[in-house]
Amino acid sequence: MNDQEIRSHILDACHGLSASGLGNVIGGHVSMRVPGKELYWTNVLDLCFEEMAEEDLLLIDFDGNVLESSRPVSPGIDFHQGIYKQRPEINAIVHTHGEWGTAQSALCRPLRMYHNLSTYFYNKIAVSPDDTLEAIGPVLKDNIAVMMPWHGAICLGRTIGEATALMATYEYAAKLDVRLSGTDAPEMPAEACARQQVLLGKATYLELTYDLMLRRARNGIRGEVKSPPAKLAGTDGHRLLAGVKD
Ligand SMILES: [Zn+2]
Repeated sequence: MNDQEIRSHILDACHGLSASGLGNVIGGHVSMRVPGKELYWTNVLDLCFEEMAEEDLLLIDFDGNVLESSRPVSPGIDFHQGIYKQRPEINAIVHTHGEWGTAQSALCRPLRMYHNLSTYFYNKIAVSPDDTLEAIGPVLKDNIAVMMPWHGAICLGRTIGEATALMATYEYAAKLDVRLSGTDAPEMPAEACARQQVLLGKATYLELTYDLMLRRARNGIRGEVKSPPAKLAGTDGHRLLAGVKD
């Protein structure tokens, strides 16, 4: 994969996250490793995901140096190079300040299992003492996500689609956790979590979810995908939109 393809994938992911309600604020980063090099591409700090365009991406080396750009980068970007160094199979990292993921992180405890999809993270999410590379590194292990108290989450993927769809799934699981916090709703039993996690490993849910996120972005629709009502299609639709009455 060349630099142009990587940049295109990052923009797609930024726009997909934004269209799914994740990241319409300043903050959050999407990155992809440059294969075979100690480099990665990520987005600038001074725009939200929705606004990101071709010129808003930065190349950073594994020492944290921004190459050939004076655009601002997030001061919290260092964990990207740390994770890429520590986990050679990881090629993409997504961090957002989504509302529910942020709220869940303020509970300062691991994500609770309240739905089959939550089990992607069953025993696969680390809780880091803080958001520094020094804190994340020791707890990272083979987890697919990291929760940082009073901050939010990081999701990792072998592909950009995997990391991005995982983040959307985390936001969903976090929403359930926060909404059910303080109730007597029972968590899924450990045995059910383990069984469901195996099933998810065989499913194409993440691929389908990423496709959905990209469709949302393409259609410019936030949070939901709607097909046009039959009456809006074709000639009738044109007449309706033009205000022509039968
Ligand atoms: Zn952050």
